[in-house]
Amino acid sequence: MSLKMPEPDQAVLARRTEIVAALRAIVPGEGVIDDVDALRPYESDGLTAYRQPPMVVVLPSDTAQVAAVLRWCHDNGVKVVPRGSGTSLSGGALPLADGVLLGLGKLNRVLGISYEARLAVVQPGVTNLAITRAVEEMGFYYAPDPSSQIACSIGGNIAENSGGVHCLKYGLTTNNVLGVELVTMDGEIVRIGGETLDPQGLDLLGVVVGSEGMLGVVTEVTVRILPKPETARAVLIGFSTVEGAGQCVADVIAGGIIPAGMEMMDRPAIHAAEAFVNVGYPLDVEALLIVELDGPEAECSHLIGEIERIALANGAVSARISQSEEERVAFWAGRKAAFPAVGRLSPDYYCMDGTIPRRRLPDVLDAMKELSAHYGLGVANVFHAGDGNLHPLILYDANVPGELDKAEAFGNDILRLCVKVGGVLTGEHGVGVEKRDLMPEMFSETDLRHQQRLKCAFDPELLLNPGKVFPTLHRCAELGRMHVHRGQVPFPELPRF
Ligand SMILES: Cc1cc2nc3c(=O)[nH]c(=O)nc-3n(C[C@H](O)[C@H](O)[C@H](O)COP(=O)(O)OP(=O)(O)OC[C@H]3O[C@@H](n4cnc5c(N)ncnc54)[C@H](O)[C@@H]3O)c2cc1C
Repeated sequence: MSLKMPEPDQAVLARRTEIVAALRAIVPGEGVIDDVDALRPYESDGLTAYRQPPMVVVLPSDTAQVAAVLRWCHDNGVKVVPRGSGTSLSGGALPLADGVLLGLGKLNRVLGISYEARLAVVQPGVTNLAITRAVEEMGFYYAPDPSSQIACSIGGNIAENSGGVHCLKYGLTTNNVLGVELVTMDGEIVRIGGETLDPQGLDLLGVVVGSEGMLGVVTEVTVRILPKPETARAVLIGFSTVEGAGQCVADVIAGGIIPAGMEMMDRPAIHAAEAFVNVGYPLDVEALLIVELDGPEAECSHLIGEIERIALANGAVSARISQSEEERVAFWAGRKAAFPAVGRLSPDYYCMDGTIPRRRLPDVLDAMKELSAHYGLGVANVFHAGDGNLHPLILYDANVPGELDKAEAFGNDILRLCVKVGGVLTGEHGVGVEKRDLMPEMFSETDLRHQQRLKCAFDPELLLNPGKVFPTLHRCAELGRMHVHRGQVPFPELPRF
């Protein structure tokens, strides 16, 4: 892969022994890992093409330890990369050679649940699915459901503003989080938001959600929980053309229907998923829509009828409605397993994430076919169709010299295409390292400088997760913000006005 990370600071590396000893004093026992072999499991996240063992891993057990580690690193000029479960697909948790990897996995307790207030308070290392598991006996669930939900942490979900099948109707992470406890890089513990939907003041929670571990470390989260709907039914609708399926999605939304989920797979993805889970997906179609309706029984039945009508008008060739809860879950099993299933089509694949206006779906798929021919690499498509969020899976073989570079170039062209048709660079996987150098495709230099001013307000020394999101991280003094630390003006060589 071509992308470069910042050069490690040799002066920091020379102090490694001293740094490890200081961190051990803060997090005793097995909470600090510095053995070279033991660092290996941390060398990448879900974007495995990038690898870099950290200088040291620190696994704090509580907020006080997180704060003390950050304060020490801040005062000693050591960079920190926060890490949840390491499932990021954009390299957001990629370690730095001269940095501490701060693993939040030990902060994994559900601290409290209020069914009356419909909220749960959890630590950041609790997995997404574990929140639903904690409340389902009482008939509740946590709505955002990334396909990685069995593994990914709620802290990582907040950092990436993660989404999933149910986000079309129930919103992304940002719409389901009420408050956080956040530790800033200088070790200050702050609370943002709380138990109510509309906290006072500026929307700092909106700033923190999706900030990719660059503004602070989340140490506690208050999420909304929802009562499980009375009925949920899924419909599998087959189309002989992708255009028909795309138009059906647009017409359903235009018709004022917001399904609980509306996902699309193209022919290669359908075949791979069916071979993987055997749920009876139609194999003679070019596109398959899975549409889920939830709510009162009468409403579900009515809306399913409406959707069948819209689908037929768009040339649907088959429709199958789930007849039981088991069948509904089975319909989704293929979609949820689509990523691993595509692993059968090719030794390796590169999962992209971009968003387009729904009506541009057919043009974008056509252009993607041309790109596929140009690069000589296959592509299987899985979409959060209702949101216009694409996940093209580019098929390649890492053992063939040059194929990974080709896959990366193909992926970059897809993302440029998304921006060109009025969409955006990412849907739910974040910018991280992967899309960092594509940011100027979407934002002007002025836009990027304004975004970085926000970073400077939280982390003026640029120590928290640097090298991610921004193609060049400008020094805060250059951006007009001056932070005086212990009486010392930073960058004294720069003129002040
Ligand atoms: C098979 C598979 C399927 C996936 N499907 C989806 C999907 O459907 N939808 C989706 O949105 N994503 C999906 N993802 C991507 C990934 O699971 C999400 O981005 C997830 O939110 C990452 O959580 P994590 O705990 O693994 O975070 P990590 O990978 O550990 O970290 C991700 C980012 O969060 C930061 N971070 C982690 N914890 C904290 C914290 N406590 N405080 C501050 N910053 C923190 C890190 O610095 C990094 O920038 C998928 C990944 C895989 C491997």
